[in-house]
Order: sequence, then C-alpha cells, then structure tokens
Amino acid sequence: MNNPQNFLCPECRQKQLTIELSHDIEPDEYNDEAKLQTIICKNCNFQGIALYQESHRGNLDETNFTHTGYSVSEELYKQAKTDIQNKQIKNIENYISNSLGKFKMELVDN
Ligand SMILES: [Zn+2]
Repeated sequence: MNNPQNFLCPECRQKQLTIELSHDIEPDEYNDEAKLQTIICKNCNFQGIALYQESHRGNLDETNFTHTGYSVSEELYKQAKTDIQNKQIKNIENYISNSLGKFKMELVDN
C-alpha cells in the first residue's frame, strides 16, 4: 500500500530522498495524525529525520499538513531509528530542539 515516495534532498538537490522508517504518534489536541520518520538520500547518503503532521479539522474539504525534514547529528539519527524500531517515541521536541537545521520535504514525481 505504500508506494515509495521520493523527496528533494537538501544536500545534493537530487530527487533521491526517501522515507526509511516511519512511526505513528498519538493524536493530540493539535494534530490528528503525526509521524516521526527517518529519511535517507540514496544518492549522497544524507541522513536525517522528518516530522509529518496532519489536521482534518476546520474546513471538511481541506486537509492541512506539514512535512518538515531536519538535519541532525549522526547520534540523534541513530537514536531516532532505535526509538522508532522500539516504538518508543517519548518526546518529539527532543529531536526538533536538537536538530541542526530544517527544510521543507518536497515530494517529487519519479
Ligand atoms: Zn542527497
């Protein structure tokens, strides 16, 4: 059901950035759907994390979502991977506040 999706890599600008692991986060008062993801570029080997947030509230015809990528240290990337595999995402803020930079995840056609 999940087609591989390619995104624009912030490092090499190639359309080779892919979602590696993804984990659903419990809905809260702001988000109906959220996922913490690890991302990897098949071209330059850039590694990072991404946060996908979706809201179905407000206009019924509208789905609002944000998909933001974060550059992180290798340590934090490995931490995110381990946490996702163990399904133990304790604090998303921890990843975001320790990130080295952020960028918009731009979906591209294959
Ligand atoms: Zn790249």
